[in-house]
Amino acid sequence: MISFRPKAKYDQESSVVLLTSQQKDKRLKKELEKGEVFPVFEGQRLVLFVGLGKADQLTLTDLRIQVRKALLSSYLKKIKNVELIPHTKEEEAVKAVIEGVLIGTYTWDKYKSKEKDDKTVKDKHITIAVDPKKEYEQTVVICEGLQLTRDLVNDNADLITSEYLEKIVRDLIKGHKNIFLEVLNKKELKAKGLYLHLAVNQGSTKEPKLIIVKYASGKKDEGYTAIVGKGMTFDTGGINLKSTNHIETMKIDMSGAGAVCGILKNVLKLRLKKNLLLVLSIAENAIGSKAYKPGDVIVGYAGKSVEIGNTDAEGRLVLADAFSYVFKNYKPTKMIDIATLTGACVIALGFDYSGLFSNSDELAKDLLASADKTDDRAWRLPIYPEIKEYIKSPIADLKNISSIRGAGACTAAEFLHQFVDGTTWAHLDIAGSAYAESQGRLYYGHGATGAGVRLLTDYLLNN
Ligand SMILES: [Zn+2]
Repeated sequence: MISFRPKAKYDQESSVVLLTSQQKDKRLKKELEKGEVFPVFEGQRLVLFVGLGKADQLTLTDLRIQVRKALLSSYLKKIKNVELIPHTKEEEAVKAVIEGVLIGTYTWDKYKSKEKDDKTVKDKHITIAVDPKKEYEQTVVICEGLQLTRDLVNDNADLITSEYLEKIVRDLIKGHKNIFLEVLNKKELKAKGLYLHLAVNQGSTKEPKLIIVKYASGKKDEGYTAIVGKGMTFDTGGINLKSTNHIETMKIDMSGAGAVCGILKNVLKLRLKKNLLLVLSIAENAIGSKAYKPGDVIVGYAGKSVEIGNTDAEGRLVLADAFSYVFKNYKPTKMIDIATLTGACVIALGFDYSGLFSNSDELAKDLLASADKTDDRAWRLPIYPEIKEYIKSPIADLKNISSIRGAGACTAAEFLHQFVDGTTWAHLDIAGSAYAESQGRLYYGHGATGAGVRLLTDYLLNN
């Protein structure tokens, strides 16, 4: 729980975390290095000084990292009430402090036994000593959307099924106006001809679903922006089975659809005045006697045939059908998809940046601006006219894997591009950024990071 109060009360019940960028307080014996914590015990109360280094060298990322470290420090383990005093009243810095609290201290411990007495940050009441502001409340809302995404991505694949995600969406939109829902299950996907989507799910006992939320709160003449998330609730790789060290985290292959849930939550909470289509394309890429096969040629909703070169390149197949269906039936003027699409994107950019592709320099520029502002980072990678040569097939219109060894993130993006039909479009590959392994990275602990939620929420708020 987090709240704002202009003046720290220093009540005896609370402990105080004081962020400091230089020595000012006489209780401090020396100037603290960045990341150094210094406890001072005053009766019942603990004052924890947290060094931020020199103010002019402090980045907002650093600030989030230090807030996280301070709140997770063992000094505060058993303490319930914490007052957090930022080193400045500057708005962007205070927002970063809020994110350090809410994003930085998120932990996935649903299945873990807890030590008695242990107050995880979730149980703490944290008061930030600043004047309440609309902007800060908005940051809190966005962090809560992010948390929903992270919970969905972190939980078991057999719990977070297509049915479960449909229930999440239905619960979120319940009671809201100007909202319409279309859900295509196996029966409807078949009747309408989304055979690429169906092929991917063929080996699974679970229901494939295409969920489309139409949110009509913008002006009548304003076009619709579609956000489409890949929701592979588990990706075994199919008959091209993934190997050990690659398969263990594959419950996260629905991170795109998880991000769409977080964004939907934010859109509703912030009452965005926009016309939006929020789309979840959900399947499970399972292995078994019914699974689709390498070498198969499948004709999707757009009428294009695809040779399956590798059953593990399944995300582009479900997205291709989702794109075609949404374009034909909802006619958005802009589309952005978000997907854990390629291991190649992880090789190219690592874990701290999502890969961004677009057929529009303007859209790419706007998305990169939001990425910069929110620290939900992205880096643009190329698609270009000649790249489509690499996804040609001798027996079909397209092949779902590339004929060359490198640039796998780019050829995957180009495959999607083939289903975009001239509409303004961008693709975020979050294969690396959606998840933090082992001890975490930046200000994210282990597990899902909610990549794309802050970036796209900010984009929708400002464009
Ligand atoms: Zn795959």
